[in-house]
Amino acid sequence: MKILVVNAGSSSIKYQVFNMEDESVLAKGLVDRVGIPGTTLEHKPTGKDEVIIKKDLPDHTAGMQLVLEVLVNPEYGILKSMDEIKAVGHRVVHGGEFFSESVLIDDKVKKVIKDCFDIAPLHNPPNLMGIEACEELMPDVPHVAVFDTAFHQTMEPANYMYALPYEVYEKYRVRRYGFHGTSHYYVSHRAAEMMNKPFEECKIITLHLGNGASMAAIKDGRVVDTSMGFTPLEGLVMGTRSGDIDPAIVFFLMDKLGMDTAEANNYFNKKSGMLGLSGVSNDLRDILEAANSGNERAQLALDVYTTKVKGYIGNYVAKLNGCDCLVFTAGVGENGWDMREAICKDLDYLGIKLDPEKNKVRGKEVDVSADDSRVRIFVIPTDEELVIARDTLRLAQGK
Ligand code: ADP
Repeated sequence: MKILVVNAGSSSIKYQVFNMEDESVLAKGLVDRVGIPGTTLEHKPTGKDEVIIKKDLPDHTAGMQLVLEVLVNPEYGILKSMDEIKAVGHRVVHGGEFFSESVLIDDKVKKVIKDCFDIAPLHNPPNLMGIEACEELMPDVPHVAVFDTAFHQTMEPANYMYALPYEVYEKYRVRRYGFHGTSHYYVSHRAAEMMNKPFEECKIITLHLGNGASMAAIKDGRVVDTSMGFTPLEGLVMGTRSGDIDPAIVFFLMDKLGMDTAEANNYFNKKSGMLGLSGVSNDLRDILEAANSGNERAQLALDVYTTKVKGYIGNYVAKLNGCDCLVFTAGVGENGWDMREAICKDLDYLGIKLDPEKNKVRGKEVDVSADDSRVRIFVIPTDEELVIARDTLRLAQGK
């Protein structure tokens, strides 16, 4: 059975087609600048050359229409006809408190995705546009929503409630939701498999370190805590997001810099983090390079980043009352061996000891812990699309 996975952003559509017989990827691609002049589609059929098409497209429906044409193109397509696609899986960022697992999409589900616009204004509207475009073009197949927040819905109130007047939870659902749930789910399950231990008996700390970054503490198959909160701004230091700060800094800087709420939102989400601190870039590779050539602010940014991650490891070991393994994933976690080394340095009190030689790998599934490390340390490339494809298959088959 073939499954199409779609991840629609405000001006982009990412897609992958899976053959679920062997879970292989038949093609993947990206439509960029949807609704903006200069739309491009990059299509990568497995085993064939990449194809780039430039064609201005007014909206997501036109973008999806082009994707479908490309998928059945006799030259670089991978399907004889769209009938081969038996179901479509959609990434949806926010499912609020309503979804703790993936669901078949119907009008009720779409209403809930819409109800979450208020708390996910940047993500849920384009996600829904992607769903509606695909439904219009493929009305006869099941469509499934897989939520970034779903896995984290297993958290207990002690970890998801903020110490604010209780009414704001009741009225506006202000609480910790957490994001990157599909990634934390995938790598934690893989880690349990690599340890030959039932997932429901493991204590796992996952570190999704990409441009956006979050950690999760997982125990007995449930998320105990995660570092992103009501929005993806909380927690670790990220490419351009501040992560945890004293909330009073927001009022102080709004006053000093004369920012309104939209400007402040932009300031803490887009101008802060590694970019703001280093003054170099939001890209860890550029910052590492600058630090290596003596740039002190770049080194400071790296130190703040690693110290923050270490703090969360300690926090989570306490909340889990132990830890079987740490799992590094996403761009920095999978490739930045120097970052992994800096994070794991001087954690031997917690039983965390990295083997510097084994650790010199990029993008591979591997155990990089020292032989005498009590806590295993894994690098596991994440695969959110595969989780979406698996859930879509399961629900499409009525399981
Ligand atoms: P996102 O999906 O959140 O946009 P990714 O998971 O693709 O991000 O991660 C992007 C980040 O990974 C960038 O900051 C990039 O610098 C970092 N990265 C990629 N390769 C390396 C590397 N070799 N060393 C350190 N960081 C790396």
